[in-house]
Amino acid sequence: MGSRVGVGGCRAAGLGMGAGGGAEGAAAAAVAAGEGYDGRGGDLREVFENLKVKLKEISALQGVQSLLTWDQQVYMPVNGVTARGEQQAVIARVVHAHQTGEELGAYLQTLMAEFEKLRELGFSQLEIASVREAARDYNRTRKKPVELAARAAKLEATGVNTWQKARKEKDFSLFAPVLQEWIDIIKQEAAAVEPISDVYDFCLDKFERGASTKRLDPFFASIKTPLISLVRQIHKTRQGPNRQFLQSKDLFSGTFSLETQKRLARRFSEELGFEFNSGRFDESVHPMTINIMSPSDVRITSRFSETELSSGILATLHETGHGLYEQGRNAQACKEGLPVSRPPGMGMHESQSLLWEKQVGMSAEYWEHYWPIILRSFSSLPHSEFTEFHKVINEIKPSFIRVSADEVSYPLHILLRYEIEKGLLHGSLQVADVPAVWNQKMEEYLGIVPQNDAEGCLQDIHWGIGLFGYFPTYTLGAVYAAMLFQAAEKEIPELRKCIKEGKFKPLREWLREKIHTVGSLYETADELVEKVTGSKLDASCFLNYLSNKYGALYNLSSAEVDAVAIGS
Ligand SMILES: [Zn+2]
Repeated sequence: MGSRVGVGGCRAAGLGMGAGGGAEGAAAAAVAAGEGYDGRGGDLREVFENLKVKLKEISALQGVQSLLTWDQQVYMPVNGVTARGEQQAVIARVVHAHQTGEELGAYLQTLMAEFEKLRELGFSQLEIASVREAARDYNRTRKKPVELAARAAKLEATGVNTWQKARKEKDFSLFAPVLQEWIDIIKQEAAAVEPISDVYDFCLDKFERGASTKRLDPFFASIKTPLISLVRQIHKTRQGPNRQFLQSKDLFSGTFSLETQKRLARRFSEELGFEFNSGRFDESVHPMTINIMSPSDVRITSRFSETELSSGILATLHETGHGLYEQGRNAQACKEGLPVSRPPGMGMHESQSLLWEKQVGMSAEYWEHYWPIILRSFSSLPHSEFTEFHKVINEIKPSFIRVSADEVSYPLHILLRYEIEKGLLHGSLQVADVPAVWNQKMEEYLGIVPQNDAEGCLQDIHWGIGLFGYFPTYTLGAVYAAMLFQAAEKEIPELRKCIKEGKFKPLREWLREKIHTVGSLYETADELVEKVTGSKLDASCFLNYLSNKYGALYNLSSAEVDAVAIGS
């Protein structure tokens, strides 16, 4: 399956987590009951083989979409944008026609009618999960009214422009009509596709299967107070890291050669295990990971700054984490276009990037190994202990901007967006009140108030393109990452020692076996996490990780650390 993931302001594009868009569709016809099946397993096998042919075509077309997107971000000349837009629109219509095709529907209808019997008829777990996933995709895409899909496609194009203009002018009122129209469209879509579901649950479930406010309200409640308290305790210590050594003339005279940074980033990526025979590493304005239909062609990008060393490295580690997931997917299932090969949600994909970036790449052990290499590469860099650099990249400092937030305050940025989205879709919050509520929550959670809408409620692209329900996957990813790393530590002897020695194979292979190749075999990420770690989504492991790490870095007392860890 072609798929694309990205960092920070990333958005899903073709990962197949939910209903497809596109303007060409057909009347609603759900896949549920079967007709015309004679009850013999042999025929069902043939139906399944036919289904695979259809799914493979869709997957191949999505690979073409991904390739067009990758080229646009990496190589395409600026003036190619109009022609590329036309190409993308045509391909999107072709993909949509395939996704909603009568034959595909008929195959799925037949298989779903006998779904409970597939096991005894000799279908493997992988095949059964593929039928389940394909039927869900088909229903979601096909039930979306054609005129609504067209309206959404149009608004996506104009919404981004309006959002950019409003952000430039720092004026939310310019963007408000777009936001209102998205809310109307989403409500209508939810009513058509999942009429019994709550509208915000419908949005959440698109990106994280099984997610709902019933599930996420207590989850966010469990992290809110401990994180606000940890941010405040750290702030009280007034112990920012000593940036002096990085603020020497070397940093700002541009001695962090871009070529050297790129060479190092490629090395770091390769040493984590990214395979360059099955992948590429390039530059783009927005770092991203794209899979061109197969684990054998995975492309990651990063970006570098001459005046700032850590952001390029960390973005590379982040995208490498996404890339390792893509390269580790079930190759045979990918080859056949079976949706079971994809992740069970965006939270799980993000967990892989965050695990490598935060749990590994921002650990003291990692820098104990790599700091001497950095020093050798930038001879003008003042000689210092890796601990200084480690402190700088782990600095906790409330920021207005989500994408540059540290890992303690980041979930509070997400909580704020979660509460606003929920209020807007439930009708308890009016669009016009968004800036005031945003600012009030920023003050309550992080103790800072944005000066204008550009550094407040207009900072993210998500609402401009109708992405509601996506934000929580960032924090689910962070929590899954902490849970998985803890489980790995229990199962891999001397994991931290391995990291200190630059040996990542044990962890990579463990993740490959437990997560990457498993894909969507289980219906939700929650189920998968429980299989691997023994517990369902649970923030306590994440809170422990943060309080221990930052308690040590900021010399917090054990009473302060315990208060965060137990969530008081
Ligand atoms: Zn990411």
